[in-house]
Amino acid sequence: MDYREKIKTLADMIKESEKTLALTGAGISTESGIPDYRSPGTGLWEKIDPIKAASLSSLKRDPAGFYAINLKRWLAYDHVKPNAAHLALARLEKMGYLLGIITQNIDSLHKKAGSERVWEVHGHLRTCRCMECGTGYNMSFLSDQVESGKNPPLCEKCKGVLRPDVVLFEDHMSEDFFKACQVLSGCRLLIVAGSSLTVYPVAGLPEFARQVVIINKEPTPWDDRANLVINDSAGRVFTDLMAEFGEKPDA
Ligand code: NAD
Repeated sequence: MDYREKIKTLADMIKESEKTLALTGAGISTESGIPDYRSPGTGLWEKIDPIKAASLSSLKRDPAGFYAINLKRWLAYDHVKPNAAHLALARLEKMGYLLGIITQNIDSLHKKAGSERVWEVHGHLRTCRCMECGTGYNMSFLSDQVESGKNPPLCEKCKGVLRPDVVLFEDHMSEDFFKACQVLSGCRLLIVAGSSLTVYPVAGLPEFARQVVIINKEPTPWDDRANLVINDSAGRVFTDLMAEFGEKPDA
């Protein structure tokens, strides 16, 4: 099947499916300018050690170092805009074709694009909390402290160290992950976009869907079992897909 036939097939699958969900990963945000983890040459893991950068033990052992490595990169997400793929998924939800999005991303771009039902299974960077007493704050409460030289950032009630509401390596999964498992039961069609499908337990989620479509630049371990695989950029695929629905996303 050539690229055009694949796009038409995907549009037909969505139109025929009663319950379609999307599962997105870091690759859907690369065209907005946020590097993913594993793309050859540009992936973050080629530059930083993930266990040092994003594990609970590293945060506990050296909180100031943890924020020195991560915070500047995370704050830059605030200025990033959703791309054609995020906008198309939001539009499909509004048109009634998409039930919602399960995302591994912490960048809030699906919400910025206007998607309403989003399960952020690895958390997000909008809020943070105290590791001692659990008091919650907006992320700016944490970042203002670090940016004014107060690193590590502390809770104003008990002076415990603050942590972002993202799921770090060695953390428990979020409540949204368990909600995503529930919503996936009975899922007719799952569109996986921009994920290497190597980070568990999220990489196991396609097991719940009857039909799986993969949109990814590189091959994934799921390709052999998927009903349709489109190896191309998410921005191009979703732009062409929306044309099949008579729509042009304004990226
Ligand atoms: P990953 O880096 O493991 O895989 C990304 C995949 O997307 C790769 O296979 C790559 O080939 C593909 N890709 C890159 N650009 C693409 C594009 N324009 N179109 C289509 N495919 C493209 O990412 P993952 O599977 O999400 O897992 C890694 C973890 O990274 C997740 O837990 C996530 O929380 C975290 N992460 C998130 C962000 C973010 O919030 N934007 C950024 C980096 C990492």
